[in-house]
Amino acid sequence: ILNKQFNKLTEESMKNQIEIGNPTRTRAILEKYGLSAKKSLGQNFLTDPNVLVNIVDAAEINDGDDVIEVGPGIGSLTEQIAKRAHQVLAFEIDQNLIPVLDETLAPYDNITIINEDVLKVNVNEVVVEHFDGQHPIKLVANLPYYITTPILKSFMASSLPIAKMVVMMQKEVADRLTAQPGDKEYGSLSVVVQYRMQTQVEFTVPARVFVPQPKVDSAIVSLTPRKDWPVYPADDRDFFKTVHGCFMHRRKNLWNNMQGLYGKAPETKEKIQSVLDELEIDPHIRPERLTVVDFINLHNQIQTVGLKRK
Ligand code: SAM
Repeated sequence: ILNKQFNKLTEESMKNQIEIGNPTRTRAILEKYGLSAKKSLGQNFLTDPNVLVNIVDAAEINDGDDVIEVGPGIGSLTEQIAKRAHQVLAFEIDQNLIPVLDETLAPYDNITIINEDVLKVNVNEVVVEHFDGQHPIKLVANLPYYITTPILKSFMASSLPIAKMVVMMQKEVADRLTAQPGDKEYGSLSVVVQYRMQTQVEFTVPARVFVPQPKVDSAIVSLTPRKDWPVYPADDRDFFKTVHGCFMHRRKNLWNNMQGLYGKAPETKEKIQSVLDELEIDPHIRPERLTVVDFINLHNQIQTVGLKRK
């Protein structure tokens, strides 16, 4: 009897077009398709219409924007984006969700779903095919947490002109992306991401609004491209390697980390000393005290004196 009542509720909610992210409708959709969330694909469906609206608000989406979404799931966030955006392009790896999305998103004519792994597909090619190039592009997603950083890094490294990213991730990763020098979460990820993007935690989201509930709380982070540094690295890739190398041993000071990176030969030590002298950086400083600009200067000076990693 219970099941019957539940099914009735389902049909009614579908007919009345209750939002996909409404907890009752989400349960009904999962039930109808016999779906259980796949942990291996980071499937945690968001079931709070207010949070969904707050995400699109944070992204300031309007009908002039084209939006890329990673992992539409059963379409709850996609729906809210589509209500405001010009076009939506969503990449979903799970083939089982495609027929679900066909049904849940049927009322919208501005959504294209691509059944591909976003880390393997050539996103630029797909974008050129589906967007007209006349609208600003935004990335909006409740990311699969197991690949948050690879996804962000691949979009940052791509040549796509992304005006803004607004993405949900684990709170702990959000803290690292937005940490400032001296914070305990400040590390190579903070520097590498903040070199490219201005980052900000928009709001946090409790685990209880997801089905199933993840073990940790989440946060929405906005990232906007920044191109206002007083200096730029001579070579971006090598800059990233320098940053990672300097944070190799967080508890060691910069001098020891640099010796670990470049070696301890007397002439190498002399070069390291000359780099730090030139920049007036105290060799005893811990890497987490250095700002993004400090790291850019460090990298450029290392290149100038010709220090080579071991
Ligand atoms: N957007 C939905 C929501 O907010 O309820 C679902 C978000 S869920 C956290 C992450 C989604 O990303 C899942 O639908 C999952 O199948 C999908 N996904 C996981 N790995 C992916 C990949 N490599 N490429 C594309 N989608 C992926």
